Amino acid sequence: MPLQDPRIGHGYDLHRLEPPPPEGAGQPFILGGIRIDHDRGPVGHSDGDALLHAVTDAILGALGEPDIGQIFPDDDPRWHEADSAGFLEEAVQRMAQANFVLGNLDCTVICEQPKLSPHKEAITNTLARLLHTEPERVNVKGKTHERVDAVGEGRAIEVHAVVLLLPRSNA
Ligand SMILES: [Zn+2]
Repeated sequence: MPLQDPRIGHGYDLHRLEPPPPEGAGQPFILGGIRIDHDRGPVGHSDGDALLHAVTDAILGALGEPDIGQIFPDDDPRWHEADSAGFLEEAVQRMAQANFVLGNLDCTVICEQPKLSPHKEAITNTLARLLHTEPERVNVKGKTHERVDAVGEGRAIEVHAVVLLLPRSNA
């Protein structure tokens, strides 16, 4: 299938947030590759970085590739506590192999705590570096869940991501 047109991709991820052991199974809080001080952290097989997982899935989706859970199964000990930057790097490599570059990325992070705004710039810059693009092509928004449901009670974090990929020749 010739992939000459721009391609859109959507990614979504959710992780439970728990206190660290022994009370819970929370790992250190990490989002977009940035460690943030918080009394709860994501539960997950890898480092639990919901933003990097959503962006990885958005790129894989745009390419029509298998999703992150199929490429990096969570019952595979190789990915235990893995740095999720490696997952995104694999997706970026597949994007380059298919002859695409990132047009832009837009993400919405939904969590009650911690506040995202002090870390937004660092997260944007890290994403841009991992995506081999400029920070101007990356947008990260933070929202709360208005204290409603598990996300609003601080028991989970949710991320939506949308990417546009451009054929390299048109970029
Ligand atoms: Zn995840």
